[in-house]
Amino acid sequence: MIDKVQPDSRQQQVVELLKQVIEPTLKNDIISLGMVRNLRIVDDYIYLRLYVGSHQQQLQLEIESKLSSISWCKKTYIQICTIPGVKTTLAISSGKGGVGKSTTAVNIAAALRLRGAKVGLLDADIYGPNLPQMLGLGQADIQVINTPTGDKFLPLEVQGIKLMSVGLLAEANRPLAWRGPVLHKIITQFLQDVEWGELDYLLIDLPPGTGDAQITIIQESPVCGVILVTTPQQVAVADVRRNIYMFRQVGVPVLGIVENMSYLICDDCGSRTPIFGSGGGEQLATELQAPLLGQIPIDQRICSGGDTGNPIAVSEYASPTGEVFTQIAAALNVTFSLHS
Ligand code: ADP
Repeated sequence: MIDKVQPDSRQQQVVELLKQVIEPTLKNDIISLGMVRNLRIVDDYIYLRLYVGSHQQQLQLEIESKLSSISWCKKTYIQICTIPGVKTTLAISSGKGGVGKSTTAVNIAAALRLRGAKVGLLDADIYGPNLPQMLGLGQADIQVINTPTGDKFLPLEVQGIKLMSVGLLAEANRPLAWRGPVLHKIITQFLQDVEWGELDYLLIDLPPGTGDAQITIIQESPVCGVILVTTPQQVAVADVRRNIYMFRQVGVPVLGIVENMSYLICDDCGSRTPIFGSGGGEQLATELQAPLLGQIPIDQRICSGGDTGNPIAVSEYASPTGEVFTQIAAALNVTFSLHS
């Protein structure tokens, strides 16, 4: 009998069935969560990649069972893409440099750690890797260990956070100028060849903007959500908007927006002055239908803490600035049901 189902409608049929597979913690379907990529139907076979955390691999069985109802499908091939031991991988991104993306990444990591989560930080900002310094690490030797799956980089551990950075592999004070294939290779190596151990969260500090490096990382890692950092000004907001299109194309959800340098708190009276304008973060949140996760004040201690390796989320956790990071960490824990 001639199969009447045309190629496009086959694809549609598969997508419709995949939309019925719900990730139980996030209570959303695996298509909306960006977990299914590279879906291809060749002859009567279905091929797809499933980007999930180490605790979500059981979704494979559910997918197989759903797709087994398709009469024309002879077999489904699912390639699981995960980072061994890592549950939730999040990316921190910004439209441009200097808005406080790395500061936000370090402080969210520190706040999560303070609440008992096992946290790793991957500094993928090859144009200005500075996470090691923000956590108080100088130039350190990266150990390579031999494992059954090949040689792996051992992350450093600082303040209870596992850290891997290109900055640790490069010579001090020499800007990194890797391009094209080398850049691609370095990033994919980072994603695959780091022995993280067991992690609740891996935060990836992306390079600013929307270039090859960002797309490679997002496409080739099980990033399940992106946190966008912006400042309140219109220009910065426009940059973030461009950034969002990139994530939408890959299908990775935007978890929320962090507005940095939102206001200055008066030391004497506690009043808040929005030096760089106001409303940018809220405007973006409404437009994207994504929550505004927090508004971080301009705080000199953020800057000095970054220089001396003391994240304010820990050193001044009870201050208004520290509390913003605590709230963001709490919101992430609620979303991913990892810790209270
Ligand atoms: P990005 O990663 O976006 O390039 P950084 O996190 O490196 O930006 O921050 C740039 C500079 O601004 C750093 O010196 C940092 O300490 C400072 N900074 C960031 N956020 C704040 C803030 N809310 N208040 C004061 N200084 C800040």
